[in-house]
Amino acid sequence: MRSADIAVIGAGPAGAAAAIVAARSGLDVVVLDKAVFPRDKCCGDGLTAACLRELQELGLDPSAVRSWHPVQRVVLHAPDGRRVALPLPAGPGLFSVVARRRDLDTALVELAVTTGAELWAGSAVTAVGPGDDGRVVVQTSTATVAARTVIAADGMWSPTRKLCNARHDPGYRGEWHAFRQYLHGAGPDAMQAQHIWFPDELLPGYVWSFPLSDGTVNVGFGFPRLGGPAVGDGAAIWRRILARPEIAGVLGSATEAESPMRAWPIPARVDGVTLSALGGRVLFVGDAATAPDPMTGEGIGQALQTGRLAIDAVLAGTGPIEAATAYRRAVGRELVADHRLARRLGTVLASPRRTEWALRAVDTNDWTRRNFARWMFEDYPRAILGTPRRWQRGQFHRPGAFSDPVEDLHPA
Ligand SMILES: Cc1cc2nc3c(=O)[nH]c(=O)nc-3n(C[C@H](O)[C@H](O)[C@H](O)COP(=O)(O)OP(=O)(O)OC[C@H]3O[C@@H](n4cnc5c(N)ncnc54)[C@H](O)[C@@H]3O)c2cc1C
Repeated sequence: MRSADIAVIGAGPAGAAAAIVAARSGLDVVVLDKAVFPRDKCCGDGLTAACLRELQELGLDPSAVRSWHPVQRVVLHAPDGRRVALPLPAGPGLFSVVARRRDLDTALVELAVTTGAELWAGSAVTAVGPGDDGRVVVQTSTATVAARTVIAADGMWSPTRKLCNARHDPGYRGEWHAFRQYLHGAGPDAMQAQHIWFPDELLPGYVWSFPLSDGTVNVGFGFPRLGGPAVGDGAAIWRRILARPEIAGVLGSATEAESPMRAWPIPARVDGVTLSALGGRVLFVGDAATAPDPMTGEGIGQALQTGRLAIDAVLAGTGPIEAATAYRRAVGRELVADHRLARRLGTVLASPRRTEWALRAVDTNDWTRRNFARWMFEDYPRAILGTPRRWQRGQFHRPGAFSDPVEDLHPA
């Protein structure tokens, strides 16, 4: 049996971030995943400014991510058809990037390995339980590891949470459900901007079209499970969405599907779940901690952030209980106020009239358009006004991530 300081279960963004930070601090890390990389993950592929700052902090080299595609323009489409074009700051640095998860996650896993973590790919967790010397024994389909701390980064359905009996709700299926498809042949309007539509039937959910550098667009839609349409109606909703003139007008008439539509739930209740198990020896991060934003469903940045916070807590803590407490406090400090505000704003967007009013307010002048874009793309915390302690000097003017010139590496 292998022994290690840290066993990370799941090598998506949350697990990779934890593995990189831990390995960089000199800890002996095993990171395991049931998948073999490269692997796809059903996602919109949108990287917010906060996410990009986390990636920069981890030391990711954007040129390692094949489909990395910086975006400068966002267009919001109100239910009444109004178009609100939001220019992201022209630079320096990046505020929004689209990159296939297949490429991003592979690059992060490779970074974890070059930083010193040992990767067990194609290794599914089958049992997690207490072992000798206060360690946790993790059995997988291929091997066993005994670790001082386990980071559970195994996504929305977190088998580790089940194996540790730390499920909050056995029937839980996430707060949102989202559908995604890659399309070839989209028109120039779709290739030049990120588009977000708010059709009445999905509110406060939305439809997105995000351009990629290889000439495809990632198109999808998501909506809250509670009060939203039936998840089983996804295929019919999709056909109606693609037929809507305001969406078809942007995508153009020549699109072809690259692969079938896929759907996956999004968990978003980080203030309502337990973040640790087995006396603090297991810490949940990313989707396994239900960390995504309750208003947009974005969760890659939150996955990276919680992975980092969990290892920071392990490094600072004197023991597992202290580490779990430190981690819970850090999540409370960094995520919970934003989650609560996002949830409240989600109720505003539930009504077409209120959504139209909100987008008219956003469209008031250049300042509102630019700063709303920065706020929407998480360049500063959602609830910054309610948590002034997180305010940083020059917050409205700081450069984006990767401020050294980063070109579109693979222009369309
Ligand atoms: C349709 C859709 C669109 C989205 N769009 C965006 C977006 O544009 N931007 C954004 O920021 N977020 C988006 N999200 C949310 C985002 O995808 C997730 O929040 C993010 O992937 C969470 O990362 P993670 O590392 O926690 O989990 P994951 O990325 O799900 O990784 C979990 C890992 O655990 C592994 N695993 C699972 N079970 C086991 C097991 N038994 N043993 C070992 N390993 C296991 C999996 O193979 C996987 O590699 C979207 C989600 C959906 C569903």
